[in-house]
Amino acid sequence: MDSPVGSKKKSAIIDIVGLRKTFNVLRGFFSGESIKINALTGVNLSVYKNETLGLVGESGCGKSTLGRLIMHLDEPTEGRILFHGQDIFTYDRQALSKKIQLIFQDPQASLNPRKTAGNIIGEPLLIQKVAPTAEIRERVAEIMETVGLSRDQMHRYPHEFSGGQRQRIGIARAISLKPEIIIADEPVSALDVSIQAQILNLLKQLQQSFGLTYIFITHDLGVVRHMSDRIAVMYLGRIVELAENKDLYDHALHPYTQALLSAVPSPYPGRGRKKRSLLKGDVTDSSGHLTGCSFYHRCTERMDRCEKSVPELVEKYEGHFVACHLVSDV
Ligand code: SF4
Repeated sequence: MDSPVGSKKKSAIIDIVGLRKTFNVLRGFFSGESIKINALTGVNLSVYKNETLGLVGESGCGKSTLGRLIMHLDEPTEGRILFHGQDIFTYDRQALSKKIQLIFQDPQASLNPRKTAGNIIGEPLLIQKVAPTAEIRERVAEIMETVGLSRDQMHRYPHEFSGGQRQRIGIARAISLKPEIIIADEPVSALDVSIQAQILNLLKQLQQSFGLTYIFITHDLGVVRHMSDRIAVMYLGRIVELAENKDLYDHALHPYTQALLSAVPSPYPGRGRKKRSLLKGDVTDSSGHLTGCSFYHRCTERMDRCEKSVPELVEKYEGHFVACHLVSDV
């Protein structure tokens, strides 16, 4: 039976239950034939207040689709997302955007080039009418200073800022309504490495100052390790492993997680190097009718039963969940 996956001792701010999302995609322009792509195939997950939950996996694993559904930017095919116990899809979208905000990957593309930084940051305040118009300018100036920009930069346009500063504008806009949750979708992957650490540290400071909960979506295992309290590893629309940060990095149980981690370069080359288990092939097309484990075709540990039976996500150790016959059978 579907139920949210997480600790029974903590109270969740978000509960995701049996979430599925299928897209119909046109296969041939002339034939008009369409195929079904299973972006999410039954996700169960809880998110706790003030934590950073990392969602990690290769491109196409469903992590961004999950983020979009939590923002109610799309409708699920099946399943529910509860926010403080209320179904997110019954919320008015505008009311929900006060509570849950998004930080985009590409600050260049996500900011309107015809609006000044002040207008971009102040727009949600105006739309939601959370402050009298006369006060908004001062509120915007304060928010800009909070994210490390100067109030004098309020009248500049996005192209007059550096990449890191543009991401600070995106972050300022996201926190302007004092949301409870921020979904950060690859927030530093478009930035120079030298700037990434500054933005990540800013996000950590803001979390402490405002009691934010982050859902942090990334393909970068170094970034997710730096940021996350817990990490969910996704593969082809499923969570295959979920654990506390340290448990996942020290004792990964799923062959996919182990392969991902073994591909991360060691900071101490030649010292205590773990056996490398490089991933072969790509994430296969999920449009096929998968009858067994979705990782079957790439798994070096596969067994006969893996082809026929889908492994359930089970709690192997306290707070450490894994979906693999190899582990759950032991
Ligand atoms: Fe590999 Fe089987 Fe585990 Fe899937 S269930 S990850 S195929 S061992």
